[in-house]
Order: sequence, then C-alpha cells, then structure tokens
Amino acid sequence: MSDYSHIVDAVPVSLPLGKVVCVGRNYADHAKELNNPLPSEPVLFIKPSTALADINQPIGIPTTWDCCHFETEMAILIGGTLTCCSEQQAADAIAGVGIALDLTLRDLQSELKQKSLPWEKAKAFDGACPTSAFVTLPIAELQNQQIQLRQNGHLRQDGNSAAMLTPVLPLLVYISQFFTLQPGDIVLTGTPAGVGPLTLGDELQLNLSTKLNLSTHIIERP
Ligand code: ZN
Repeated sequence: MSDYSHIVDAVPVSLPLGKVVCVGRNYADHAKELNNPLPSEPVLFIKPSTALADINQPIGIPTTWDCCHFETEMAILIGGTLTCCSEQQAADAIAGVGIALDLTLRDLQSELKQKSLPWEKAKAFDGACPTSAFVTLPIAELQNQQIQLRQNGHLRQDGNSAAMLTPVLPLLVYISQFFTLQPGDIVLTGTPAGVGPLTLGDELQLNLSTKLNLSTHIIERP
C-alpha cells in the first residue's frame, strides 16, 4: 500500500488515497444474474482507503472464506470537493477514469444479506479494491467505454458503460447528497454481468476500451 499513489495520464498526482464509494446493481444484466431486483435508486456502499491496492501488483485474496468473486468496474478519480453538487460540478471534478476490481466474498455477502446485516466485511476488507492508474477522458465518452475482463484467456465480462442504470454524472450527484466526495476519493460505477470466482494462480487481463489494458494475477493474501 505504501508505494501506491494515484497516477493520471502516466504522471503521479498529489491526491491523497481516499475512500471508495461504490454502487451496487448499476447494470440490469448483473442484477439479474444474482437474482437481485432492479433498484429504484442507486445502492451505495463504501470501501475504506485500506481496501485500495495497485492492480498491477499480484492481487492477494483471502482464502479463509470460500468464493472471492471478481467484479470489473469503471473507476472515477475525484479531483475536487462535491457536496450536493450539480452535474456540471461533478463533471468538473473528475480527475481521471480507470478500471478496478470490486472484490467480493460472495458466500459471506450472501450470509450477511440473509441476516439483513451490512455487507462491509464481504466487500471492504484490506485489498478488496485493486485499482489501475487513471487516464483523462472527454466527459462525452464516459458512457461509451467497453469494460472487459479475461480470466486465464477466457472472456468473462464484456459490458459497456452505456448500459449503466445511473450514468456517471447523475451517480456523482446522487452520492454527493449523502457523502461528500473529496479530492483523492474514487467512485466505482458498478459491474456488468459475468462475475465469478477467482482461483489462486489466475491470470487476469483487464481492458477499458483501448484506453487501459493491463494484466495481473491472483495469489494468496500473505
Ligand atoms: Zn461491484
């Protein structure tokens, strides 16, 4: 963690490592694959900064719980302060766009959901948010990004940000009504369908259109 810092367009930027605000069920096809109803408004949860990890380093997953799932998501790096903001203010505060994994201990999450308890332990554990470097993108291109994950060469996730139920700008506006977004915070925008379990030794390839293309692999968390 100590050697991890935000990078935008290949240049380190002086933004602190902040919290990660995530949205669940932002793609209809993913909500359907987990038999979840479509939400009438965004489902939000937070990962602390201790969940961040550099996705280019080997990803350590906990093996004390079965079934750590990958969820591949477009990530938005926040460069300003947003409280009850407008869409224009949200657009002005976007410092970069990246790709991240919302690692999820699915069995534990199911157990917690069944008991109507919060999901935090299943999604906010140390290292639960491996994140890429960021690139700048025109706002007009935010909702036309292909999000792909290959696991050992097999295409598992292949979605487009055009299918988000709540697009990025209205999502930031909505989040900012509950949680102030600060410089260095990250917003994960939800996963398309195709999530599945990770296995030790897996080779992963992640793509955000042609903007980001990276490889990593899965190891046991030390
Ligand atoms: Zn997710």
